[in-house]
Amino acid sequence: MMLGSLPREIGRRRMFRFVLWKFGPDPDRDSVHLVYCEGEDEDGTRCGADSGEYTDREAAELWPFEHATEYPEHRSYGHLAYRPMITTPTEEPS
Ligand SMILES: [Zn+2]
Repeated sequence: MMLGSLPREIGRRRMFRFVLWKFGPDPDRDSVHLVYCEGEDEDGTRCGADSGEYTDREAAELWPFEHATEYPEHRSYGHLAYRPMITTPTEEPS
């Protein structure tokens, strides 16, 4: 008797459905924006002051104008943003 002729079950089978996924912003969580000063004092010390965290991008981007009233020579800034994202199947697996 040849082994190949025996009906047998090897391992387990699982049926997988292939679904498309998309990647996009999470509507349930807010973005966070922070602007920081990259200006330097006369001795080369970096300022490092920052706006604090804002969920409103425009509010964070107004901070440099406020900072400039006290430090008009500081004119370089960085903007850090955290944008929560999610992956979502285009069709929920059943
Ligand atoms: Zn500064």
